Amino acid sequence: MLENGSFIDEQELITGERDIIDVLNPYTQEKIGHILCANKNEVIQAVENAHDVFQHTMKKMPAHKRSQILRNAAVLLEKRSEEFAELLTLEAGKPIVEARGEVGRAIQVLYFAAEGTKNLHGQQIVLDNAIGGEQQFGFSMRIPIGVVAAITPFNFPLNMALHKIAPAIAAGNTIVLKPAEKTPFSAVALYKLLREAGLPAGALNIIQGTGQELGESLVTHPLVRKVTFTGSGVVGWKINEMAKGKKVTLELGSNAPNIVFGDADINNAVSSILMGGYTFAGQACVSAQRIFVHTSVYEEFLGKLTEKVSQLKMGNPKEESTQLGPMITLAAAEKAESWIQEAVQSGAVIRTGGNRNGTFLEPTILDQVDFDMKVVCAEVFAPIIAVMPFDTEEEVIAYANDSRYGLQAGVFTNNINLAMRMAEALETGGVWINEVSVKRYDHIPYGGVKESGIGKEGIHYAIEEMTDLKFIGMKILP
Ligand code: NAD
Repeated sequence: MLENGSFIDEQELITGERDIIDVLNPYTQEKIGHILCANKNEVIQAVENAHDVFQHTMKKMPAHKRSQILRNAAVLLEKRSEEFAELLTLEAGKPIVEARGEVGRAIQVLYFAAEGTKNLHGQQIVLDNAIGGEQQFGFSMRIPIGVVAAITPFNFPLNMALHKIAPAIAAGNTIVLKPAEKTPFSAVALYKLLREAGLPAGALNIIQGTGQELGESLVTHPLVRKVTFTGSGVVGWKINEMAKGKKVTLELGSNAPNIVFGDADINNAVSSILMGGYTFAGQACVSAQRIFVHTSVYEEFLGKLTEKVSQLKMGNPKEESTQLGPMITLAAAEKAESWIQEAVQSGAVIRTGGNRNGTFLEPTILDQVDFDMKVVCAEVFAPIIAVMPFDTEEEVIAYANDSRYGLQAGVFTNNINLAMRMAEALETGGVWINEVSVKRYDHIPYGGVKESGIGKEGIHYAIEEMTDLKFIGMKILP
């Protein structure tokens, strides 16, 4: 049984009377351990300690040392990849092959951040460009901001946490992280690894518990300068309200559009959307959800995709051959199932899947859907895609943009001009051509428009958003 408390200035908080949250294995539904929650006073202590460590240690730590800590952590994580992958499979139910993928990305995040530490600079500003600026010299500097509060979701417990921790360290900040209570153990393993890599005590504090209980104390603390949140829109926009006056990054959900034109390589579109719709049982913010297919290739595409989807191997996430594991909780699987049923009652047709067994939802394709069905207009966050036909470019642009969300999109075509027009027209933070919306590399600018969020992650961009740009000007005396 795993048991962890919060970590403040190296001390694990496990004594005293505490709320306890059980953590279940999503596959077996058995308890794998529990967390001993922090209380609101301890959240305040975590922030105050992080502020002290910022003032006395991190702010003064040279870039080469911060970079070395991040590189040390990358090397350690490489050595322990399998251990971390197994933990992700245990607490998130992520198929082991995908869990290894997450660890592989996390290692790269650490290397990108180690490089980013050494590339953090301002620029000269030529002052005599302005009338009166003669004999003056100006430049900008990027300086760390102080305490960063980070709140992360269950679906990438390691990599989403690192997308906040690594740039914060690179910038010379300190962090207080509240990981998802459904998957709290990867964050603790990461905390221990960073300490071993040389991160000073208190540069990263972890608080365990629910967001409802601890979120407000963390987000509104006056010593917190920046709040970075990845999770659902409902929570994210509430946090944005609470964080008034602070820097905020919100990485929220979407119902990503993927568009297949008549001239596309259909086999590439099918295999890409197969991966993009069902990776981690569709529990990714950029999961392919709304698939628009040109009428000329509609039946061909749908036939080929249906065949492949129906062959996906569901099962024990620990097994190498498993392609689709459980959803995170029974409630999440039941909700997704009820959305399928609602759609079917309103006329949608199930081409494959649709059934649930405990936390397992069969990979599902829906056809003949309406745009106001939840499986289309809301974020399903489940192994469900909805396929819809279109005739013209103008029509599909309007369909794809008819969404509250705008995170990433995929466009499949061999026509470069069409691809470029689509890239410009789609209201999303990113567009992939001949690749599915779910694709993400950890150094690309990543973040949504509309209700999908505010700000950008991707190491270089996250580092910038975790610094202040300061101007320094000088008059040169004769
Ligand atoms: P969630 O919003 O339920 O929880 C995310 C975190 O917020 C958890 O740590 C939770 O404890 C905390 N939280 C909950 N209520 C809170 C409150 N009132 N105040 C402060 N914190 C609170 O999300 P989830 O179910 O863990 O994750 C799934 C969601 O995350 C999906 O919507 C998905 O699209 C989104 N997501 C987005 C990205 C991205 O980069 N855009 C990446 C991964 C996941």
